[in-house]
Amino acid sequence: MPWNIGPGSVKLRSALEDSFVASPFAECELTMRKTGAFVLAGIGLILAVGVPVTIAVVFSIDLGKKPGILVGGMMPGIVVLMLAVKVWKSGAAPKPTPEQIPLGYQVCELCGKTLPETEGVARRLDLQTPMARTAFVCHACTRYRTKRALIVLVMFLAGLGVLALLVQLFVAK
Ligand SMILES: [Zn+2]
Repeated sequence: MPWNIGPGSVKLRSALEDSFVASPFAECELTMRKTGAFVLAGIGLILAVGVPVTIAVVFSIDLGKKPGILVGGMMPGIVVLMLAVKVWKSGAAPKPTPEQIPLGYQVCELCGKTLPETEGVARRLDLQTPMARTAFVCHACTRYRTKRALIVLVMFLAGLGVLALLVQLFVAK
């Protein structure tokens, strides 16, 4: 093992250990975010395909002759897909190494900013492990996440609303 010889190699070994300790946090957040993005993309695809097809079936419209309806019907799904891309790309900010963080400060898991512990909330990631693994998320990111969750919910409801409206129009005929 080359990093067991000499005093300089101790630093390398500790850096390696740090990277191993730090990686589960990042991976967990990353997996959660990518799963969310996949779910969003799925909803978006269903809406983008489902809404125009529903319009075409319900009103017996040839979408090839009326591209406006096709584009309009795809819009809710496309907006959701765009949101999915945004979720996928978010939180890519580079993180400082653990030894660069001053005492009493934490690094936000989402935006990567170093902030005082009072500027955010640390929550436990895994209750099974004896080591207290926490993810620190700043207040700004918590607010942003809440807002994003609400936007997704509103978009989903809007998609459902469009479908409900179409069904109502069909029934009223
Ligand atoms: Zn943050």
